[in-house]
Amino acid sequence: MQIKDDERELNRARYRALSQQLPLMYGIITINTLAVAYTHIEIAPLFLTLLAPVLLLVFALARTVKYVVGRQRLLSDEQIAKSLRNTIKLVIPLSAIFTLWGLSFYQYGDAHQHAQIVFFIGVTTIVSAFCLMHLRQAAMLHLFIVSIATCTFLLTFGEPVLTAIALNLGVVTPVFATLLLQSEKDFARMILQKRQQRQQHSKLRALNEENKRLANTDSLTGLANRRQFLAEIDECVSRHGKLGSEFVVALLDLDGFKPINDVFGHPAGDQVLVDTAARLQKRFSHLPVLIARLGGDEFGLLFRDPGNDEEVMTLARSACDAFRDAFRFEEGAANLSATIGMARFPAAANSRSLLFDRADYALYYAKQNAKSEPVFFSHDHERLIFANSALEQALRHADLEKEMTVEFQPVLDLEYGSTKGLEALARWYCPTLGRIRPDLFIKAAENIGMMGRLTEVLFTKALKEARNWPGDLTLSFNLSATSLSSEAPVRRLLSIAERSGFPMTRLIFEITESAVMNDFESAMEVLNLIRESGAHVAIDDFGTGFSSLAYVHRLPIDILKVDRSFIRDLTRNERSANVLRSILGLCENLKIACIVEGVETQEQFDLVCDLGGRFIQGYYYSKPLSAGDAHMVLQIESDMQEPPLHAIGDRA
Ligand code: C2E
Ligand code: CA
Ligand code: CA
Repeated sequence: MQIKDDERELNRARYRALSQQLPLMYGIITINTLAVAYTHIEIAPLFLTLLAPVLLLVFALARTVKYVVGRQRLLSDEQIAKSLRNTIKLVIPLSAIFTLWGLSFYQYGDAHQHAQIVFFIGVTTIVSAFCLMHLRQAAMLHLFIVSIATCTFLLTFGEPVLTAIALNLGVVTPVFATLLLQSEKDFARMILQKRQQRQQHSKLRALNEENKRLANTDSLTGLANRRQFLAEIDECVSRHGKLGSEFVVALLDLDGFKPINDVFGHPAGDQVLVDTAARLQKRFSHLPVLIARLGGDEFGLLFRDPGNDEEVMTLARSACDAFRDAFRFEEGAANLSATIGMARFPAAANSRSLLFDRADYALYYAKQNAKSEPVFFSHDHERLIFANSALEQALRHADLEKEMTVEFQPVLDLEYGSTKGLEALARWYCPTLGRIRPDLFIKAAENIGMMGRLTEVLFTKALKEARNWPGDLTLSFNLSATSLSSEAPVRRLLSIAERSGFPMTRLIFEITESAVMNDFESAMEVLNLIRESGAHVAIDDFGTGFSSLAYVHRLPIDILKVDRSFIRDLTRNERSANVLRSILGLCENLKIACIVEGVETQEQFDLVCDLGGRFIQGYYYSKPLSAGDAHMVLQIESDMQEPPLHAIGDRA
């Protein structure tokens, strides 16, 4: 029979129902009371016919106002429970007073008036109990107090009719009470169901939100994922399109990430990605920039409120700067850098897919040309990309045997003051496009899957020349990444070399470190295959890619070629000299030869000598020579002196 504090929703519903029904109840009671008072005004005392109805009226009004006002106020759960308890408590004295007042008229009237009193009490009680139904405690108390008192009163007369009325009342009351209780139970059940539905609904909604969040988040880094990035660009296109404002899409690609995965394993790679996300977030936390991981080692930045190009460049450079510190993971540490390509809406493009493509062009351009300097898309990039496809087209139709030639650049051995060997460098004179730089046509050949055939043609030509060189000079030949992806291409090259009659031990294959890192496992197999054949392996352009001295000892190599970018800065930059010194030291330790590339001036030459370099390649000693010139020069050199002892390729 108690009001429970934890039935908050139910109590609120009860209060709501009561606040609608109690004013009605008081209205009916007042009308009924007035009717009784009116018919008894001349026979009953005034305190019964006048004072009591006036008091009742005042009380009814006060209660009605209280409930109506309460309905409009925001009551707390405690206030509601308290108000319901008070209503129950009030029912006891009120029911008693009501019965007493009604029955007290019985002594004054005639038979008609007696009938009116019984009718008055019966009807008023039924209506009141009905109105109190949602507060079952109050309804029951009221019903039973009035019924029991009235029955008892009627039975005291010993009158058959009154006794019949009393018994009648005694039977009807419990039945009526049962009906009321049943209705109240249904009401409570309905409220409870509604609450459960609401709870289920909000649970579903929360689940939905969580699903949406997961679908838009990169699980590794917690950044927005590609899907959200694209959706945000769409949103920006429509919003900024309407406002006539601008935004910038930037794509960021890590340089040197794949090797970390390959050499140190996926946990290290994951650690680098998580670290990258954190570094980028730190850089842009205070700016309206969305950072997303688009997949692999590619990230996206959406500058929602960019300044002019120079300001965006500054921001993008600061993103690149975030990579300055080495990345540390359990197995070690590595240096990475980032390349950024950007496209501005609407100058570069006014749709999502074009913006994305053009930011990608800019990224591609940056990778090729301006490493670690962010690049804004310009229409020149697009022209360049189309030019590339023209180049690919020309290469497809080229007569390789006729159009491709090989030049040779000598390597100087300082210890003997003579040429140690020569590096074969590819040349293409295209009848329609003219002379094409080797790095360009080699990339094009890789793109269109022609590299295998091209390499075989070039290698055959190089061997043909090298066979006629005097003495025991070495031949260095460049291999591209595609030759390292499986054993087959290198097996074919080795069999070409064997057939040519050029001694395997005088053959050196040059491989860039980025090509090795591209697919570490299969590159290792290919390198071992080369060394088993008796040929040698050189790491080319060392210092431009992964550049971690720590991994060099893991590679089966004989020679390390220091990239010419170090030599360029050598006379100006103390750091470059230190790096070169430590590379030379490392090679000495590992007992591998070190060739310093790109030595152009006397000054550089002297410095490399001072640092203890032994093998030098570069314009200072000789530019690449045509096959004929090379042959002539070598012949003269050989006529002038005894051939030097081997040094390059002599494995410890
Ligand atoms: P690389 O293997 O690093 O070759 C050395 C490049 O540096 C050559 O450019 C050479 O001409 C240039 N060079 C040599 N000494 C100096 C110097 O003192 N100063 C300057 N500024 N440059 C110097 P080239 O011939 O244009 O070749 C460019 C790249 O193309 C090569 O770089 C190599 O990666 C690639 N390449 C050339 N021939 C072949 C080939 O037959 N197969 C493959 N896969 N790649 C090749
Ligand atoms: Ca080379
Ligand atoms: Ca090189």
